[in-house]
Amino acid sequence: MQKSDELYRGKAKTVYQTDDPDKLILHFRNDTSAFDGKKIEQLDRKGMINNLFNAFIMGKLADAGIPTHFEKVLSNEESLVKKLEMIPIECVVRNIATGGIVKRLGVQDGLELDPPTFEFFLKNDELHDPMVNDYHIQSFNWATAEEVATMKELTFKVNHVLKKLFLDAGLLLVDYKLEFGRFKGGLYLGDEFSPDGCRLWDAKTREKLDKDRFRQGLGGVVEAYEEVALRLGMTLPK
Ligand code: ATP
Repeated sequence: MQKSDELYRGKAKTVYQTDDPDKLILHFRNDTSAFDGKKIEQLDRKGMINNLFNAFIMGKLADAGIPTHFEKVLSNEESLVKKLEMIPIECVVRNIATGGIVKRLGVQDGLELDPPTFEFFLKNDELHDPMVNDYHIQSFNWATAEEVATMKELTFKVNHVLKKLFLDAGLLLVDYKLEFGRFKGGLYLGDEFSPDGCRLWDAKTREKLDKDRFRQGLGGVVEAYEEVALRLGMTLPK
């Protein structure tokens, strides 16, 4: 697999073309950003941990029958994926209310949600990723009604698989965001699943083990990500 031109440099990953027009390389960088890129820091080992963590989770999701873009790990910080036509929408499931929703709706922080709630956000940093609904997505042609239904169905299926996986490791999957894209007539899970894009709390103490440690300046960010990986039974390079 030959790496070629840089296609896109995001806040945390760089995307490269390859000699196969259907495949891309995702390079997970150590850059860590929050508040629409206003706070940025380099965290040693974070790129490697997120790349290997994402590979582990995508493998579990594929085993459960969820179509993902993931192909294989190429190096500690790089993975090969299918080149998707990304839908500019983030799909968020919340099992516990915390963060943005608490401010927005004035609900109690830490409240367990039964059923879990679902939200769509438009991927647009300048507009601060506003919340949108099914009708916005269809009326503005970001995705079809069928794609909206599939994104919801797959996002909840991911919840079913990962809630149990994390709980068995003593962790609460509080919330997470997913991105989807089109490939040869199908809809696939794209981007990444890592502690950068989800919230994970220790099931007993409710200690935060995700990017909220960075947002809130709690320190021990990479140590927390490593702790999660170890609890899931992963082994990480020294
Ligand atoms: P955000 O952090 O808000 O998701 P970003 O663009 O800064 O935005 P990065 O993770 O740094 O995010 O960049 C990765 C980019 O690659 C994202 O725009 C994502 O939608 C895109 N992407 C992820 N997987 C694929 C794929 N399989 N095919 C095409 N593009 C992809």
